Amino acid sequence: MKNIKEIIIMGCGPAGLAAGYHLARKGIRPHLFDKDTSVGGLSKTVHWKGNKFNLGEHRFYTKYPEVLKLWKDILPRDLKTKKCVSRTYYNNKFLEYKNLYKNLGFNKTILCFLSYAKTRVSRRKSEETFEELITNRFGRKFFEIFFKNYTEKTWGLPCGKLSPERRTQGIKNFPLITAIKNSFENISPSLEKAPEIKTAITEPLYPKKGPGQLYEKIADYIKKRGGKISLNTELKEIEISENRITKAILNDTEYSPGEFISSIPLNHFIESIASLIPQTVRDAAKKLKFRNLLKVVLIYNKKGLFPDNWIYINNSNVKVVRIQNFNNWSKVMTVDRNSTMLGLEYFCGKNDDIWNSTDNELINLGLEDLEKLNLAKADFFSDGIVYRVSDAYPIDSIGYKENLKVVREYLDNISNLHLAGRAGTFGYDNMSYSVMTGIQSAKNILAGKKAI
Ligand SMILES: Cc1cc2nc3c(=O)[nH]c(=O)nc-3n(C[C@H](O)[C@H](O)[C@H](O)COP(=O)(O)OP(=O)(O)OC[C@H]3O[C@@H](n4cnc5c(N)ncnc54)[C@H](O)[C@@H]3O)c2cc1C
Repeated sequence: MKNIKEIIIMGCGPAGLAAGYHLARKGIRPHLFDKDTSVGGLSKTVHWKGNKFNLGEHRFYTKYPEVLKLWKDILPRDLKTKKCVSRTYYNNKFLEYKNLYKNLGFNKTILCFLSYAKTRVSRRKSEETFEELITNRFGRKFFEIFFKNYTEKTWGLPCGKLSPERRTQGIKNFPLITAIKNSFENISPSLEKAPEIKTAITEPLYPKKGPGQLYEKIADYIKKRGGKISLNTELKEIEISENRITKAILNDTEYSPGEFISSIPLNHFIESIASLIPQTVRDAAKKLKFRNLLKVVLIYNKKGLFPDNWIYINNSNVKVVRIQNFNNWSKVMTVDRNSTMLGLEYFCGKNDDIWNSTDNELINLGLEDLEKLNLAKADFFSDGIVYRVSDAYPIDSIGYKENLKVVREYLDNISNLHLAGRAGTFGYDNMSYSVMTGIQSAKNILAGKKAI
C-alpha cells in the first residue's frame, strides 16, 4: 500500500459511501462530502413527519458477490427478499401480460402481431436509435402503444433521438417485455427466458426501513472508524497542477487531497475545473445533459389502494410516469398503518414549467393524475410533500458516447482523480454498479493505481 495523504470523496450516495466503507475497513480515514443534508444520494430514504419515503423503488439486486456481501454485512437481519407486484397501466387499465388482447382488443392485437411478424421476416441491420431498436425487435405497433409515450415522458426527447445501447438492459427489465415474450412464447420458442430478470423485478432484496437504512448504516460505520462526513458542503473549485488535483475548495474551505474520488454528477465536477480545461472538453461536457426528477408524495386515509409496489403509467392523459406504493414495500414506512403513501414520479428539465411549479400546484397535479387514472380519490387525501432531485438521470441522447469519450480522455489524465458512480461516470446505472465502482476506486487507491 502506498503512503496515502488525505482522501477526499465527493458524494455520499451508494458509490461514495461504498468507497468510504472499503477504505475505513482497511484502517484509512477518508473525508466524505455531500451538498445534501443527509446521506444516500438518489438511494436515500427521506424522513418526513415520522414517515419514510424513497426517491424510486430501489430494489436491491446485483450480479457482483462483493456488493451482495457488503449489503449483507451491513444489514444482516433487515435485508430480506421481497416479493413484488408491478404492473403497467395502459388506457386506464392494468395490462394483463398473459392476455394482452384483453387490453388491446381484437383489432389492435392483430395489428401488433402483424407488425411483429413483419420484423421477423425483414429485420433491419442497424439499430441506431431507441425507436429503431424497438420497432426492429417488436414491431412499430408495439412501439407506438407501449414505448413511445412512456419513454418520451421519461427522457423528454423523441425516441428517434435516444441512443439504443444503454436501453437494451432497461427494456429487459421493463415488465412489458415479459408480457411480449409470454405472448410470443408459442410463436417464437427461440426467444430466451431470463431468470435473473424475474429476481430483479419480482423478488429483489429490500431493507426493512427502506434503502436509506443501509446507506445510513454505512455512514455510521465510516464515522466510527474515524472517517469524516461533511454534509451541506458543495464542491466549488479545483486546482490542478502537473496532472494532479492539488487543491479543492468545498464551500469556503480549502483542502489538499492526496487522492480524490468524485461520484457527483460529471457536469458539476467539470464546472469546478471549467476555467482550466480546453474549450473542446468544455463543449463536449455541456452536451452531457441530465434529467430531473420530481417526486410528489401523497398520503391517503385509505388502506390498500392497490397491490402493486410500483406501477408504470403508459397513459397519455396524465404527466405521471411511475407510481410507488411505499406501504407495499414495508409496513413501517407510514406512521398511520391505515393510510397509503404514494410517490408519483415526474421527469423534467430545469426550464420546464413543471420543475418551476409551486409545491401546491404539484400536489394538485398528483391528485388530479391519480383521479384520472382511477387509482385514488382526492377525497381521501390527507397530506403531501414535493421532493426535487436535479440531475437524476443521465440522458443518453444520440452522440452522448462521443462527447463522454472526449471528457473522459481529459479527466483520465488527472492521476489522483477517480470517477465513480452513476452520474459521476455519466452512466444510467443501478445501485449495484455504483457500489461496485466505489469499491473499485478504493481498491485502486490502495493499490496505488489510476482509476478505472
Ligand atoms: C426513480 C429512481 C428509481 C431507482 N430505482 C432503483 C432500483 O430499483 N434499484 C437500483 O439498484 N437502483 C435504482 N435507482 C438508481 C440508484 O438510485 C442509483 O444508481 C444510485 O443512487 C447511484 O449512486 P451514486 O452514489 O452513483 O450517485 P447518487 O446516488 O446520485 O449520489 C450522488 C451524491 O452526490 C451529491 N452531489 C451532487 N452534486 C454535488 C456537489 N456539487 N457537491 C457535493 N455533493 C454533490 C448528491 O447530493 C448525492 O448525494 C433508481 C434511481 C431513481 C432516480
